[in-house]
Formats: sequence, C-alpha cells, structure tokens
Amino acid sequence: MKKLIVTMLCSVFWLTNAHMALADELVLPASCYQGSTFIGYTVKDGDSLYKIGLHYGFDAYTLAAINDIIDPRVIEVGQQLKIPATEDVSHEIIAGDSLYSLANLYGMTPMEIAMANDLWDTEVLPVGVSLSIPGLSRAQAVSLQLSARAELPFVLQYPVDGVISSGYGQRSNEFHTGTDIACEYGSEVKAAQSGQVVSAGWDGNYGYAVVIDHKNGYKTRYAHNSQLLVEAGDVVAVGQTIALAGSTGRSTGPHVHLEVLKATGGTENPMRFLTKEK
Ligand SMILES: [Zn+2]
Repeated sequence: MKKLIVTMLCSVFWLTNAHMALADELVLPASCYQGSTFIGYTVKDGDSLYKIGLHYGFDAYTLAAINDIIDPRVIEVGQQLKIPATEDVSHEIIAGDSLYSLANLYGMTPMEIAMANDLWDTEVLPVGVSLSIPGLSRAQAVSLQLSARAELPFVLQYPVDGVISSGYGQRSNEFHTGTDIACEYGSEVKAAQSGQVVSAGWDGNYGYAVVIDHKNGYKTRYAHNSQLLVEAGDVVAVGQTIALAGSTGRSTGPHVHLEVLKATGGTENPMRFLTKEK
C-alpha cells in the first residue's frame, strides 16, 4: 500500500484546498467519466490548457470536454479544473469525511475506495490517516481521452523538440508524405495524440518507425528513429515517449518524419492538425 506516500505533484494543493474549493463542484458529468479519479488544479498566470494537459498527459481538447469548456483556448487565472489522475492519489482523512463523500469527490464507488484500502469498518474513518485513491491505468486514461474527444477536432502535439525542415507535398520528383522535424540525435519522440500502437519496427525507407492508431479514422507514423520504446498493441497517452530520434532508413540527418495516415488510404498534411504551441 502506498497510503502514506504523497505521489501527486499537486497533493499539497489537494490536501489543503480540496475540501473548500472543490468538494461541491466535483459533480461527475457523462457516464464515460465514471470510475475516473480526479485531482483539482487551479489555473495560474501563464497557463494554457495545452500546457496543463501536456504536464498531466491529456490533450487540451480532452480537458476541455471534461471541464465543460467550450473554447479550449480560453481559461482564466483562478479557474478550478478537474484532471483525471493517472497515478494513485493520497487523501488524508479530515473530520466529516465518509466513504460516500470521498467516493463522490473522486468519482469512484465507496466499495472501490474501501477495497483499495482494506477498509472493513467503514462507519467512521480515522481522522489523519491517509487513504490511497486509485488512479487510472494508462489504458483507462487513453480510452477516456478517446471517448472525451470523439466529437472534437483532431489535434496533434509536436512529437519532438525541433524545427520543421521539410514540409508535406510535392518535391521536385516525388511526393513527400509527411512533415520533417529536425532535432538532436536521441531526442525523445512523443506520441502526438493518444491511441494504440499498431506497428513498431524496421520499415524500409522509414527506418525504425512507429505507427499509432488514434481510433478516429487517422493514424500517425514516426520514422527514422534510433531506438523504439513501444511495441505493437501498447496503448499510449499523448506526450508519452515512444522512441528516440535518429537517422535510420532513408535519411540524411537526425529528424522525425511525422506522417498522418487516413483510414481510407493516403495521407494528410500534418500541419492541418499540429497545434501551434510547442
Ligand atoms: Zn520526411
């Protein structure tokens, strides 16, 4: 049990402010969020949903959907957000807490919290003791993201820290099917959006490449890596490191060739989907 370990970065906020600020506001919306553990976050100066999402492994659109925000570009300093927890959360019991109030607070059932903590006498919770509130597994987090953004525009985050060195489209004698992002050798290559890895391995001119299915009619390919860190079948969250950049296959220097594949065949210009923020 990890009851006494404060694992979340925002636990200090959570333990000190959660009851005052959020207890009444954490009403769970649609059924797809049930079984999700939420943590509270207060928007600070300079924050954007994109930045907050990247920190916690969710894209801006998913956070917008979960928080009933219509325009993901518009958030205000001081605004309270709820963010699905992807690690266990530690909750220190205060007077007045009950399994039911905690279940309501974290979006779980009383039974789930009781079982996670081997609680048998659940009438009175011991004040000062920390309970472990189970967070989402990666697979649950990804399925939450996929369901939350089902009706929303498809957005991709930059898969690597670098500069665009070659765009999508016709070159002198051939068609370039992706966007090239030049970067340092060994840079972390990250999933531009959550989904499931459908292939990871050597792929001819693409060198060591990964393809992720985003379950919305699009897949993304990340090519020319030096090392792959995922396997076919893995579910990956947005921003998760999937490979290290390199120059394998048909390549003249370290870069990531990012490709957007349509389920119906062919490719799209990745710039249509990439967020402006890096
Ligand atoms: Zn390329």
